[in-house]
Amino acid sequence: MGKVLVIGCGGVASVAIHKCCQNSEVFEEICIASRTKSKCDALKEKLAPTTKSKITTAQVDANNVEELIALIEKEKPGVVLNLALPYQDLTIMEACLATKTHYVDTANYEPEDTAKFEYSWQWAYRERFEKAGITALLGSGFDPGVTSVFSAYALKHEFDEISEIDILDCNGGDHGYPFATNFNPEINIREVSAKGSYWENGHWVETEPMEIKRTYNFEGVGEKDMYLLHHEEIESLALNIPGIKRIRFFMTFGQSYLTHLKCLENVGMTSIEPIMYEGKEIIPLQFLKAVLPDPASLGARTKGKTNIGCIFRGKKNGEEKTYYLYNICDHEECYKEVGSQAVAYTTGVPAMIGAMMILTGTWNKPGVHNIEEFDPDPFMDALNVWGLPWKENRNPVMVE
Ligand code: NDP
Repeated sequence: MGKVLVIGCGGVASVAIHKCCQNSEVFEEICIASRTKSKCDALKEKLAPTTKSKITTAQVDANNVEELIALIEKEKPGVVLNLALPYQDLTIMEACLATKTHYVDTANYEPEDTAKFEYSWQWAYRERFEKAGITALLGSGFDPGVTSVFSAYALKHEFDEISEIDILDCNGGDHGYPFATNFNPEINIREVSAKGSYWENGHWVETEPMEIKRTYNFEGVGEKDMYLLHHEEIESLALNIPGIKRIRFFMTFGQSYLTHLKCLENVGMTSIEPIMYEGKEIIPLQFLKAVLPDPASLGARTKGKTNIGCIFRGKKNGEEKTYYLYNICDHEECYKEVGSQAVAYTTGVPAMIGAMMILTGTWNKPGVHNIEEFDPDPFMDALNVWGLPWKENRNPVMVE
């Protein structure tokens, strides 16, 4: 069918590339390009004997638009799958625009020097992508991503009107370390140490970090404490789910994680303000990242399951109803299949599916679009085929 250029070769990219290789009828060719080419070469060496997909590798600095343009012109992919960091979204979108190539990512743009993420920077490209006749698919991970597709599916098939969405992200996995993050530590800590917020009656309600706590009994995991966070899909769902009154996002954290995080915050280790150390400027959070376990190394030691999904409240045929859509994923099963833990797996699989939707033309909508703006049905079918089967509960316990 075609060729994908994957940018980045970290935890999420590794899973997405494994999945592209399993799906070689669609991904006949895969070019893996990242900052550290040796990682791309090592993955190629591992996967080439297992797949019909032709794999090539390249070095690229994704902060540099000219380098990206040269790479895209040389490789001529049907779609670019951006699995580098949120800091690179805009440079990669610029290069896609210049070369008229479709674009897919899993996280919205974040300036490196400000812990703030929102869609405005990427939405500013809407008109230019539309005029160029190319599609940018934003947020094709799990959350955003699958949770957004779940919302579109619930609206299409289960409700006439959705009034409330609670997105529940539970990681019941245990890696045995007192403190480690399941994906890029810098991005993860920036996200969880920020103020919380949720959408209610047409505006944002801001909370202190971890101010709102609830307990929920997750199938496959058990009872967990979860905390309200700001999360990027709330912003686009608030626009794309007509009549929505409230959207909240909760993530589970264990006490050990929270105690370590508080301590690191209190001593200044999570700051992104540069400081001088032995004559050199360093950013404390980047230094912290360097001493924490690499998320890619957690796979072999993580046991337990994730359970991520959305609980909806709304109306169908004039009747009030509630509905829960979720996926349960087992860390050890993921590791057996692709050598990664479930957090990378639950992001990498939908990243591959999003790239497949675009490469096959199943989704074709020139412009810049969040994932819930597309027909959810082919994506929901693909989740069942490619390792993230979903479950429904028509009588869920609601979050108070
Ligand atoms: P990693 O840190 O493991 O991987 C990032 C990769 O990007 C690394 O290979 C890194 O290169 C590469 N990279 C960084 N900067 C550049 C650059 N300037 N040029 C080229 N390559 C670069 O991160 P993850 O795999 O954990 O996360 C990847 C993305 O997925 C992030 O954007 C994250 O926010 C997103 N994500 C989304 C989720 C969702 O559900 N939607 C959930 C989890 C993550 P090097 O190897 O040299 O360091």
